[in-house]
Amino acid sequence: MNLLVLGGAGYIGSHFVKLSIELEHSVIVVDNLLTGHKESLPKQAKFYEGDIRDRDFLNKVFKDNTIDACIHFAASSLVGESMKDPIKYFDNNVNGTIVLLEMMAKYDVKKIVFSSSAATYGSHEKMPITEDYETNPTNPYGETKLFMEKMMKWADKAYDIKYVSLRYFNVAGASSDSSIGEDHFPETHLIPIVLQVPLEKREYITIFGNDYLTFDGTCIRDYIHVEDLVDAHIKALKYLEEGNSSEIFNLGTETGFSNLQIVETSRKVTGHKLPMKIGSRRLGDPDKLVATYKKAEKILGWKPTKNIEDIISSAWSFHKKHPNGYKE
Ligand code: UDP
Repeated sequence: MNLLVLGGAGYIGSHFVKLSIELEHSVIVVDNLLTGHKESLPKQAKFYEGDIRDRDFLNKVFKDNTIDACIHFAASSLVGESMKDPIKYFDNNVNGTIVLLEMMAKYDVKKIVFSSSAATYGSHEKMPITEDYETNPTNPYGETKLFMEKMMKWADKAYDIKYVSLRYFNVAGASSDSSIGEDHFPETHLIPIVLQVPLEKREYITIFGNDYLTFDGTCIRDYIHVEDLVDAHIKALKYLEEGNSSEIFNLGTETGFSNLQIVETSRKVTGHKLPMKIGSRRLGDPDKLVATYKKAEKILGWKPTKNIEDIISSAWSFHKKHPNGYKE
């Protein structure tokens, strides 16, 4: 297939591009490189640098290429930042998706796989979360993802654009050959930050709050390996290719780990003492997010294959090999 990957030079996008090229798809990448890295892209991918909010730019990409489907990773994705600067999130995420859907309608592209988020659900007492849970985001990031899903629902009705929205839980890990991985600046995600301690980039890890309603007081998240995650996108494309209707799926593992358990597992994987301090809560964090993946298993034939040790080990291998990320 001819795939247009928006945000393809980002952490998750680049893993998707790598897999798609290995599967012999033809891949066009659009990325504004604000957080993405051109170095993470294989040379077989055709690359356009630009912002999806830029109509003229995106129009040219659609005009110059034959596109069978879009895979939309292009978004700002930090919960904490979104609490401080919600307008940035509505502008980048919602406006970007408006322009993208406009171009898809104009150029008759009828399929999109969309990166959504567990943050669309907000706080719930009963875990694991199924796709029919109420959506009540506790932060602007989740609100924008929910809004983007709703736009797609109406774009389906009006322009017959079929979508698969994948609600990611916590994505982590790196490619099994350690060639690509997570490189954000500044880094905010738990696993890469924890690994900065054994990499001697920070003295200790601060865990944000230990007074949550969980068994050890720290937040619980459901971590999914980035390679499992991108595999679900390939299955979602196949599902759309077969002419199926628009759907929303959770992508998680049905297993939650507390922040303290992540530190403990990282100690085991790295052999480092990993000093830790408890800090105050980070705004917008729900206590616990764990998904079921039964719907994706039943309909897409997908299930996670890697556990938390695999996730942390692969991230550790990547960071040891690339201590300065893509900068070297
Ligand atoms: N977290 C932490 N210290 C850090 C970074 C993150 O305690 O330096 C916590 C964060 O408050 C949350 C969990 O780790 O409870 C996962 O956060 P992350 O940013 O990795 O993902 P999110 O769940 O926000 O998407």
